[in-house]
Amino acid sequence: MSGAAIAPERVRLGALTTLKVGGEAELWTAGDEASLREATAEPFFVLGAGSNLLVSDAGVAERVVRLGPPYATLTAFDGAADVWLGAATPLPGLVRRAQRAGLSGLEGLLGVPAQLGGAVTMNAGTRFGSLSDTLVEVEMMLDGDLVRLPADALGLRYRHSELPPGAVLTRARLRLTASTPERVAAAMIAVDDARKGQPKVKSAGCAFKNPAGDSAGRLIDRAGCKGLRVGDAMIAHEHGNFVINLGAATSRDVDDLLEAVRERVSVALELEWRRWGGADGEPPQPGWSARTPRGKG
Ligand SMILES: Cc1cc2nc3c(=O)[nH]c(=O)nc-3n(C[C@H](O)[C@H](O)[C@H](O)COP(=O)(O)OP(=O)(O)OC[C@H]3O[C@@H](n4cnc5c(N)ncnc54)[C@H](O)[C@@H]3O)c2cc1C
Repeated sequence: MSGAAIAPERVRLGALTTLKVGGEAELWTAGDEASLREATAEPFFVLGAGSNLLVSDAGVAERVVRLGPPYATLTAFDGAADVWLGAATPLPGLVRRAQRAGLSGLEGLLGVPAQLGGAVTMNAGTRFGSLSDTLVEVEMMLDGDLVRLPADALGLRYRHSELPPGAVLTRARLRLTASTPERVAAAMIAVDDARKGQPKVKSAGCAFKNPAGDSAGRLIDRAGCKGLRVGDAMIAHEHGNFVINLGAATSRDVDDLLEAVRERVSVALELEWRRWGGADGEPPQPGWSARTPRGKG
C-alpha cells in the first residue's frame, strides 16, 4: 500500500474526547497501512472515540495517532455473522446494524460510544455482555508490520486487555449468532433500561472499575459523593460513578475530584479511564505513558 500520513495537525485533545478535557497534541490521522506505519514511527498514543480518556490540560508531547475513515467500515457490514471490521468502526452504528440483520452478540454494548478498536482495548461491556463475547481475532500494526492475534492471546477480562506495547488495532473479526431482528431488539430493551439513569451530559462513562463483587457507583453514592464538585467537575446526581463536566472543567479539577472520592470511599478504587499526561504537566504516572514502539526507549 502506498500513501503518506495526512499532515499532522495541532489540536486541542479536549475537542476529541467526550469529557471535553485536555490540552494540545500533534494529531496524525492515518488512512492506510503506509501512513499508519509513518505515524507510529515515533512514540505515540492511539485515539479512538475518546470516550474513556482523561487527558492532562498540559496536553501530551507524544504524537496522537487516530485511524481515518478507511478504517471505519460500517458500510461494509452486510449482515454476515463472521465479519472483519475496521477498528475505527463506530460501535453504536454496528450494534444497530447487527440488530437489523438479526445477529445477536452485541446487544450488551448498546449505548457504548466507542470505536471498535477502543472497545477491544477496554473490553467494553455491561452486565449484559462484553466485546470479548464475540471477538475472534484482531489485526494490528506492531513495529511497522501488520500481525494477527487470536482473541484469547489478548488477556481480555473485565475492562482490561493486554495488547502488545506499541500495537495499533486496525481490524477486528467478530462472530455473531444468527437470531431475528425482533429477538435482538427485545434483548436490547433491558440494556437500554439499565442506562436510563445515566447522565446525558459531557462525561467519560464510569470513572472507576467495579471492585470485585461490588459496584463503584453504589460505594460512591453510599459515601455521600453524589453532587460533590471541584471547579466544573462534578459527581453526577444520577450516577455515582459518572464524573461530569459542567462546562469548563480542567484535568486538575477532575483529578482533585477523583482524589476526594477515593478519600471518602473505604474500598480502593481503580481508575477505569485511561490517563494521558500527568496532572498539571507532571510526568506521566507509571503505566500511563504513551505506547512507545519497540526499540524506541
Ligand atoms: C456516556 C458513556 C457511557 C459509557 N458506557 C460504557 C459502558 O457501558 N461500558 C463500557 O465498557 N464503557 C463505557 N463507556 C466508556 C467507553 O465508551 C469505553 O471504554 C470504550 O471502549 C472506549 O472506546 P474509545 O474508542 O472511545 O477509546 P478511547 O477512549 O479513545 O481510548 C481508550 C483506550 O483504547 C486505546 N485505543 C483506542 N483505539 C485503539 C486502537 N485502534 N488500537 C489500540 N488501542 C486503541 C486508547 O489508546 C486508550 O488506551 C462509556 C463512555 C461514555 C462517555
